[in-house]
Amino acid sequence: MRNSEPIHILYMEDDSGLARLFKKRLGRAGYMVDIAHDGEEGLAMYNAGCYDVVAVDQQMPVYSGLEVIRILASQGPLPPMIMVTGSGSEQIAVEAMKLGAGDYIVKDVDGGYLELLPTVIERVLQQRRLLEEKQRAEAERERLLVAEREQRLLAETLAEVTLAITSLTSHEAVLDEILRQVRRIVPYSTANIALLEGDFLRVAHWQGYEAFGAKELISGLVQPLDDFLLVAEAVRLRKPVVVLDTRQEPRWVVLPETAWIRSFLSVPICLHDQVLGLLRLDSDTPGTFSAEDAQRLQPLANAAAIALENARLFGEVQRLAITDGLTDTYNRRHFFELAENEFNRARRFQHPVSAIMFDVDHFKQINDTYGHAIGDQVLRVVAERCRESIRDIDILGRYGGEEFAIILPATDLSGALSVAERLRRSIADVPIPTERDDVTITISLGVASNAQDVAALVNRADAAMYAAKQAGRNCVAVK
Ligand code: GH3
Ligand code: MG
Ligand code: MG
Repeated sequence: MRNSEPIHILYMEDDSGLARLFKKRLGRAGYMVDIAHDGEEGLAMYNAGCYDVVAVDQQMPVYSGLEVIRILASQGPLPPMIMVTGSGSEQIAVEAMKLGAGDYIVKDVDGGYLELLPTVIERVLQQRRLLEEKQRAEAERERLLVAEREQRLLAETLAEVTLAITSLTSHEAVLDEILRQVRRIVPYSTANIALLEGDFLRVAHWQGYEAFGAKELISGLVQPLDDFLLVAEAVRLRKPVVVLDTRQEPRWVVLPETAWIRSFLSVPICLHDQVLGLLRLDSDTPGTFSAEDAQRLQPLANAAAIALENARLFGEVQRLAITDGLTDTYNRRHFFELAENEFNRARRFQHPVSAIMFDVDHFKQINDTYGHAIGDQVLRVVAERCRESIRDIDILGRYGGEEFAIILPATDLSGALSVAERLRRSIADVPIPTERDDVTITISLGVASNAQDVAALVNRADAAMYAAKQAGRNCVAVK
């Protein structure tokens, strides 16, 4: 309650004698009173001033007291109001209270009612204070309800995303689910998850673009950071970016297929302070997104980071499970798996398929002379030169210690022989540089083509390799 400022009262009363008495009595009690001499003047004064209480006489020129109350009520919430009526007009008082007046007072001839005024005024002011308190409490309750609903939605969404991360096996499915859940929290026209790859951002997952005829553009969209400055800033600052109106944002790049995008929100997907990508939302309406939206979406962006990291780790584990750690070629088990597939395909299409086995000559001596570490280095170079001598579709595996196998799809015997010879020379003709000396080594190779099955094919190549050893090493033999 205002302690220092006096209560300001507007009294509309055409009887100037009564008005003077009213003003005098209340002035003594510490109130400030302005007098209006009819309803019209009263309304003008009310609209121009700032009054805590309005008292109206019923019988006035232009507008009666009830009419004044009606007009004020039509303008907005009524101020605390007191209806002042003549005696015998209680019906008027009831009418005034129905319209929203806080109280009434009945004039008596000897002016005794003036003594009641301070009490009545305190009463309507108290009513007003209680009403305001009630409204404040209701607004607060509503605010808490909204906040609670929002928290519940967030919690639900996160629970579902967590479930998706732990139960969905592909990270594509997890990221799609995240985009679906994002829509529940912050509705969008379209959304995508773009991954940072060096100086580029590549769109990896998206939703909704078909409806805007932008499917072709978005699938596989790659954005150079140098050209998309806003995106570059989002990546650099690792902070959300909100664009209320793309037409007012000079750094927004307009592509013909995305000209309908009017507002935009980007939330960084970070793992340990490192930006993996961006979660981006578009809307066809300006002013759709806010900084609070970005805050709400951050937990989902974090979940996306976990999904992406899981995918990376899963991929890494899978890769490790099929590769030989030293030479980065396929291990024996996976070599046979791939060889089997290739062999079956070749048979279906009646294509030739060949195999080469090779083994480093006198490798034991390399180890004995230079040590095991240099031996390892030599094996890595052998694998590297072999990779350079064959095609991408050929399958190279480490068969044993210093022994490798190659499957050559769609290659007949003479083709395989020339690959083997090229490979032999690439090893024998170029010494291998090591920390100690340049080491010259040779390999013996066996070639086989078109067998009953993979095992038979590889066995024949192995037998051919043994023949090459017998023939004096550093040569190619066929079985
Ligand atoms: P040959 O010409 O008859 O093949 O003679 P070789 O010495 O190469 O054959 P042998 O099978 O007697 O020796 C192979 C050697 O390769 C023995 C083994 O210690 C070594 N070796 C096997 N795997 C590795 C490896 O991963 N690293 C190193 N440095 N040496 C290995
Ligand atoms: Mg050997
Ligand atoms: Mg050997």
